[in-house]
Amino acid sequence: MLSENEVELLKDSHTDKQLKSQFKKIASKNPDQYFPTSELKGLEYMRKKCESCGTYFWTTHKDRMVCGDPGCAGGFDVVVNNPSKKKLSYIDVWKTIVELLEPRGYVPIKRYPCVARWNPTSEFTIASISAFQPYVITGEEKPLQRGF
Ligand SMILES: [Zn+2]
Repeated sequence: MLSENEVELLKDSHTDKQLKSQFKKIASKNPDQYFPTSELKGLEYMRKKCESCGTYFWTTHKDRMVCGDPGCAGGFDVVVNNPSKKKLSYIDVWKTIVELLEPRGYVPIKRYPCVARWNPTSEFTIASISAFQPYVITGEEKPLQRGF
């Protein structure tokens, strides 16, 4: 439960970035309330505070002193130093995500090339989210209704 002071801090946020920053401080003070800490500990993760940026993070590496932010870790290393015990190929990851989300009502769509016509700075989509930007970011298009 948020205190009155915490609610006021959140209300005083004028941008999404400020709101995220304030909530991060609140959640970091009481991680058991906002994160599945018992599950993480059960998976042998430990909570640490980044020596570089001060952000709390979870890791299975007891000697790790910085978070996974590229600015703190010196680049991207998740592929090289991935803590997952289950090794998956690119296609395996895709199939696993479908196995997780499809029973929850999400509908996978087949891969397709497309041009991000709403983004004049990009000739091709640069990430899957690009294809959905008009629906989720600007609201200029209403999402298609699913046939449930
Ligand atoms: Zn950091």
